[in-house]
Amino acid sequence: MNHQKSQQAYENAQQYIPGGVNSPVRAFQSVGISPIFAQKAKGSHLWDIDGNEYIDYICSWGPMILGHSHPMLQEGLLEAVDRGISFGLPTTLELDMAKEICSAYPAAELVRMVNSGTEATMSAIRVARGYTGRDKIIKFEGCYHGHSDGLLVKAGSGALTYGIPTSPGVPADITKNTLVCHYNDLQSVQDTFEANPQEIAAVIVEPIAGNMGVIPSQPEFLQGLRDLCTEKGAVLIFDEVISGFRAAFGGAAQLYGVQPDMVCFGKIIGAGMPVGAYGGKREIMEWVSPKGPVYQAGTLSGNPLAMFLGLKQLRYLAQHPEVYQQLQQSGQQLEQGIKDKIAKHQLGYQVQRVGSLCCIFFTKQPVHSYQDAMTCDTEAFKVYFREMLQQGILVAPSQFEGMFLSVEHSQQDIEKTLSAMDNAFASVKKWQEQNNGTLS
Ligand SMILES: *Cc1c(COP(=O)(O)O)cnc(C)c1O
Repeated sequence: MNHQKSQQAYENAQQYIPGGVNSPVRAFQSVGISPIFAQKAKGSHLWDIDGNEYIDYICSWGPMILGHSHPMLQEGLLEAVDRGISFGLPTTLELDMAKEICSAYPAAELVRMVNSGTEATMSAIRVARGYTGRDKIIKFEGCYHGHSDGLLVKAGSGALTYGIPTSPGVPADITKNTLVCHYNDLQSVQDTFEANPQEIAAVIVEPIAGNMGVIPSQPEFLQGLRDLCTEKGAVLIFDEVISGFRAAFGGAAQLYGVQPDMVCFGKIIGAGMPVGAYGGKREIMEWVSPKGPVYQAGTLSGNPLAMFLGLKQLRYLAQHPEVYQQLQQSGQQLEQGIKDKIAKHQLGYQVQRVGSLCCIFFTKQPVHSYQDAMTCDTEAFKVYFREMLQQGILVAPSQFEGMFLSVEHSQQDIEKTLSAMDNAFASVKKWQEQNNGTLS
């Protein structure tokens, strides 16, 4: 497989764009090769600018749950463009979108559209702080909530220390209000609440973690967070930017039967357009400007084209519950197949899946937390990734991202993927034996 044009484009792009990309993961840095540049995609398949064809498991990191270039989404798009691309005035499309989200997700009684997941979480936290009159928040190690200052934080050395910035440019003065707890560890949350009485405005959590690989919450963890937040007067925020409309139509909240006070969406609700949303209980959301005093705005928020496409996708999902059954079945087929290949090559790796979101952890240890995920052999992952790419299978270029399935991933696609994995795992095994027999 030849990647000459992509390599050239990457070289040129680095002259004009920091690192050649507009979002870091696209640079393929953690797999040590130069990235492929996309040309077009249809259904479950994607083509790069060298004309190579791949089965795509990135799916734009989640939005393309119906596959690429779905004809239903394109229908009427030109007329929508013709009506006008943006007005800076309210439209009834925004009303329809809000109704759709609120009826799918009971905890969202009011919802505000924004332009990205980052904006959604950042704004939700501002509202939670305004509503409670408190400054501190709790997040979890390994959960990603976009790149706003207060959320680019990792745990300090002890469980009860203040968070420290994960990036230069983020003042410690800001992150001192972000307390970091351990995922799936209720005790760490309880201790943090006790050490900061009456000070915690919100707990923000990915109810199904999708940014340290795929780590589902243990059911008692989410219920425990619910109970603690209620008891302590803190706002429970589910970041369902990945899991919303994917884990189930009603997201992780529906799957687990636990309702947050606020919720953040992105990815699927935009069908590939730059969209986010945050919502919650009426009493809390009425703090948002212009109804309330917490300021939050956006020139292009609720953009007509973005609403047109996002709404179509949500309505389709609402009217076709069999989509989730089908995704569950293909997910099951993929998961079982991967487990068989791992067993065949005696690698002992972990496979975790929720519906159409699946992840292979290159470790022999069960993975319930960030610490567990950090035991993965990222060098072995590199070998695997490159072998898969060479065979026309595009998985996320990082150990700590999931595989996204769409309804367009056919049984045949999955079989082809599994047979490529067979070869890739054989190479990993061989590589391990040559490099450090002790690792496997
Ligand atoms: C992708 C993601 C975000 C950030 O969304 P952007 O649109 O990239 O800003 C926030 N939270 C979670 C859980 C995500 O997966």
